[in-house]
Amino acid sequence: MDLPVDEWKSYLLQKWSLLPKSIQITISTAETLSDIFLHSSSLLQPEDEMFLKRLSRGYLVEKDPNAPIFYREEGNKKFQEKNYMEAAVLYSKGAAHSRPNSEDLSLCYANRSAALFHLGQYETCLEDIIRAQMHGYPERLQPKVLLRKAECLVALGRLQEASQTISDLESDFTAKPTLEASPFQILQRNLHHLKMKVKEKENCLETSPQTLYKAFEDLDLREENELISRASSSISLCTDPLKGRYLVATKDILPGELLVKEDAFVSVLNPGEMPPLHHSLKNKWDARVSNGDLYCHRCLKHTLATVPCHGCSYAKYCSQECKQQAWELYHSTECSLGGLLLTLGVFCHVALRLTLLARFEDVGEVIRKLHDEICNKDICLPESKNLVKILSYDQEETEEHGKIMETHVPGCDIKGKYENNYNAVFNLLPHTENHSPEHKFLCALSVSALCRHLETTTSQALATGPQSSEPRAAVTPELCADLNIWGVAMLRHILQLQCNAQAITVMQHTVSKESVIADSRQVRLATGIFPVVSLLNHSCSPNTSVSFSRTVATVRAARRIEKGQEILHCYGPHESRMGVAERQWKLGSQYFFHCSCPACHAEELGTVAGPRWQAFCCCRCRALMQGGDMLSCGSRSCAEPVRRDHLVSRLRDLQQQVEMSRRLLRNGKLERAIQLLLGCQQDAESFLWAEHAVLGEIEDDLAQAYAALGDWQTSATHLRKSLQAVEARHGPSSVEMGRELFKLAQVLFNGFAIAEARDTIQRAEEVLLVHCGPCSDEIQELQKMRSYLLDLPPLPVGPSE
Ligand SMILES: [Zn+2]
Ligand SMILES: [Zn+2]
Ligand SMILES: [Zn+2]
Ligand SMILES: [Zn+2]
Repeated sequence: MDLPVDEWKSYLLQKWSLLPKSIQITISTAETLSDIFLHSSSLLQPEDEMFLKRLSRGYLVEKDPNAPIFYREEGNKKFQEKNYMEAAVLYSKGAAHSRPNSEDLSLCYANRSAALFHLGQYETCLEDIIRAQMHGYPERLQPKVLLRKAECLVALGRLQEASQTISDLESDFTAKPTLEASPFQILQRNLHHLKMKVKEKENCLETSPQTLYKAFEDLDLREENELISRASSSISLCTDPLKGRYLVATKDILPGELLVKEDAFVSVLNPGEMPPLHHSLKNKWDARVSNGDLYCHRCLKHTLATVPCHGCSYAKYCSQECKQQAWELYHSTECSLGGLLLTLGVFCHVALRLTLLARFEDVGEVIRKLHDEICNKDICLPESKNLVKILSYDQEETEEHGKIMETHVPGCDIKGKYENNYNAVFNLLPHTENHSPEHKFLCALSVSALCRHLETTTSQALATGPQSSEPRAAVTPELCADLNIWGVAMLRHILQLQCNAQAITVMQHTVSKESVIADSRQVRLATGIFPVVSLLNHSCSPNTSVSFSRTVATVRAARRIEKGQEILHCYGPHESRMGVAERQWKLGSQYFFHCSCPACHAEELGTVAGPRWQAFCCCRCRALMQGGDMLSCGSRSCAEPVRRDHLVSRLRDLQQQVEMSRRLLRNGKLERAIQLLLGCQQDAESFLWAEHAVLGEIEDDLAQAYAALGDWQTSATHLRKSLQAVEARHGPSSVEMGRELFKLAQVLFNGFAIAEARDTIQRAEEVLLVHCGPCSDEIQELQKMRSYLLDLPPLPVGPSE
């Protein structure tokens, strides 16, 4: 996904292996990125470009005139099944393949408005009705959408507008007496009911639980740092010749305090599963739902009502505004490149978008540096150790005060301010010397192919002149004035991304309506660059938590941080997720360093035993098994020592069973899933330590299954056990704990276990506020549950329906 598709990768790796040794050596030993780029790109042959073009054609990214009707019919099927969510997405897919101002487009919008109506999304439904009418909704069908419009307005309590719409309809009915009058009467009855309801509502004053959140709302970066944009004044930026840049606390910081709140400089939505077509006509149109259908391609807002690009079928937005902005900023160039960008991978896409965004900033300095590098071999791009030296040399020249021995921090402007801008992005380290020659060759040729493709499309566009009705922005970025400069910049970005790309994640809740809770997992939604967040170094036991809301990343203190301590976050390999060997391997291969955080240090010295959440227990006495290749519980009355291999393979078998039951669960085969899971649980308890992660996961799956059956009590019992496992592994104030508490709160809430629900809601809030802040979806949801419970009469008799 990050890197090019396998076919292109292996094609280039083969090309590399066939190169004469001398050329391989030239590229391997090249010191600067421009040398690597120039040498590699001179090797790109027309047949290579043809091969790449063939691969790109495998993706359906253009509008297919036959697709709208297919998707509309599929959507109608889902609509009949009352699966309005999927129906809406299918209508969106249909819309994405329709031309502007076509009946196809208007029908897709109109049908989608019906699905949204059933989902209770009245505002969005109204927007879709307007969209349908804008794109030529047929006159004969008008009353249908007007009825829906009136119903929406009624539901929203906008009674005056509703009455207006109804009287419009009435005159329509009198003009065309053939129309059915009964739905219209029903509507009038609804209107009457709702009028009564609104009156009731107006009479009782609403109590808001907002006051509870005052304390946390104040934390919204009340004092912005003067030298680091989007950061709190409680931290400052330092440099060190060995460590590079890092952040420290300038005062004592409390858990939950907001330290950084930064919008991505660039972000690219991960397309999700988008398999190439492979010539099978049957699967030509994909009816599955992917992230590309559910999130705005610009701002990452979740929506069921996307607005498609007018030119392609893959770019979709939450609104006309986002569509317009994306077009002006980058999509006018990217629109026709969909297949190519999917073939070349997300990193290549991010690199291109970065250079397109650079057009809107003053990048003269960057271009000068790149230009110098290409023309004059003596100057090399500032990087790692050279960096401080070169930039302080730069400054000596420019400052009038003569010698300035203070180190100028890379990425900062002349006044020492570090901002979320292209200059900062450009100065993130590409670690050129650490990547393998093959990898650099692969990246350089991919970039080169992209450059050449854009060069040809640009000259074609200039030759034919503007033909489309939409305004076409200049295709070439400013950096592209010199193709080599542009190529080197993009190559630099691709190499930077391996260490600096930030996965923007969301908690995704399953689309199916069967699993009310629990099947929510963290998924990677997009890849972004956050120059300020990138200043944080890694620890396997970090003192901060990073969370995302659309394209904004927030970093909060996860625990108390004392003045002078470094601010650290985890790049992925967290001590509660993997053992030290695996962590070091991951950090070494992806980020090129050996971690020496306290957790790694302790584990490597062997002062702590292996993690308990991976431990086995004795099948007889249930005591913890210890040892290396041979494990034993230490008790003499128990059996012989057991080989670790044996237990590991037993665990693998168990995990396969668990996986099988999850498939059953997903397919709604609840009874069978529960049976299988209970068997797994029994098996697991016989050889896994009580705090083992897999035992916790089984409990969590069981909880999910019982919740789907509506057996809230049993579900809660299993969740409490799962909670213990999560607490043992991740700690009582971890974000994982918060999420598990959140699930338990939902189950207790649904089961009307009021006292415990209130308690659990509060615990979940306390933990999640620290990690995610008051605006997160989870906190909002908890708040809703809490206020609902507060509104309940003192002695509730049970759910009303
Ligand atoms: Zn948007
Ligand atoms: Zn497009
Ligand atoms: Zn570590
Ligand atoms: Zn034993």
